[in-house]
Amino acid sequence: MFKNSKGSVPVSCGCKSAIEHWERNSNRKAVFCSVKGCTKQAEHGGHIINCHGNASNKQYIVPLCTLHNHSSFSQSFTLNKIIEPIPVGKLHNCK
Ligand SMILES: [Zn+2]
Ligand SMILES: [Zn+2]
Repeated sequence: MFKNSKGSVPVSCGCKSAIEHWERNSNRKAVFCSVKGCTKQAEHGGHIINCHGNASNKQYIVPLCTLHNHSSFSQSFTLNKIIEPIPVGKLHNCK
């Protein structure tokens, strides 16, 4: 389970946007929102954290629709199976 992170660290890796950071490092095009069951279009690279396990609050990027990227969306959610959460920070495929 994941939830939106409150306060986002910038991707700070050379990618123009969080969604570009996700696309480059997942080798996918962001098409649909990553929240399981949501069929809206992916508009943003959303910053999320894992609700369980590590207490590090490590942030990941996934494509989200406008609704699910909004700060008022505070429920925890599961991701669509094909979606790989990409950690924030400089990665191999960053620009
Ligand atoms: Zn990047
Ligand atoms: Zn959505």
